[in-house]
Amino acid sequence: MATQIIIPVVVLGIIALIIGVALAVAAKRFEVKEDERIPQVRAVLPGANCGGCGYPGCDGCAAAIVKGEAPVNACPVGGAAVAEKVGAIMGEAVDNSMPNVAQVLCGGNCEKAPRQTEYYGLKDCNEAVVANGGPKGCRFGCIGLGSCVSVCEFDALHMTDKMLPEVNINHCVACGKCVDICPKNVMTLIPKDQIVHVDCQSKEKGKLVRQNCEVGCIGCGICEKTCMFDAIHVQGNLAVIDYSKCSNCGACVKKCPTHALIKEGRKVAPRKGLKPVKKAAPKTKPAEA
Ligand code: SF4
Ligand code: SF4
Repeated sequence: MATQIIIPVVVLGIIALIIGVALAVAAKRFEVKEDERIPQVRAVLPGANCGGCGYPGCDGCAAAIVKGEAPVNACPVGGAAVAEKVGAIMGEAVDNSMPNVAQVLCGGNCEKAPRQTEYYGLKDCNEAVVANGGPKGCRFGCIGLGSCVSVCEFDALHMTDKMLPEVNINHCVACGKCVDICPKNVMTLIPKDQIVHVDCQSKEKGKLVRQNCEVGCIGCGICEKTCMFDAIHVQGNLAVIDYSKCSNCGACVKKCPTHALIKEGRKVAPRKGLKPVKKAAPKTKPAEA
């Protein structure tokens, strides 16, 4: 009776031992070693796990940086200080170019660009846009239901009482979540030292713009003619600024007949290396005989 129990126990024990040893050898042989820099990078990331870098939390960001899939300054929350530390671990120089900040490219608040229909659905811009493009007359303008505000994890956006989002540049880390959620492409990221912008996205002809918004760009081209730096051009009825050329002088802002151009009041360092561009003289018609 005892032998009937002991033999199977011993046999099972030997089988378990063999399987255990085999598994241990296989584990050793096929072990995937984690790059020791991943925990080092992870340790200097802020731990916000916000996903602003585009990876699943700080663990995912650290792994992506070490694999070379993300730059050393991938963490928008940590900014330059964290990028320096990550760069030191990775042995890479950090790109210290001007950081970006979120910008609202629409000045058509509820007074300047009234609604043409009423919307009673969910308080969600992406839902509202399904209903005939949204309640506003301007089909390019901000819908004003604040989806951008609700995705911002840094308290950098809030809605004004006139139904437009406003950016707090001191809180914005340029994670881009507001840009991704906006169905009208009203949110964008621009260099933090850019204080002149076109607060309009409408590519409609001027007459239609005027019908729907008091402060929309009508594509008149006065700004283009005014700019001494060749930094602003009308493209498809809309003035577009080349930020790499713009000096922030604000000459275009003063001339814009609809106030679609805005110059923020905050102080920024003057941009170096920009020189006025000589423009070709307008062609004159030969005098008639
Ligand atoms: S900017 Fe875009 S997401 Fe934000 S309230 Fe306006 S339409 Fe909605
Ligand atoms: S702010 Fe000055 S440099 Fe910039 S687009 Fe306007 S006129 Fe040109």
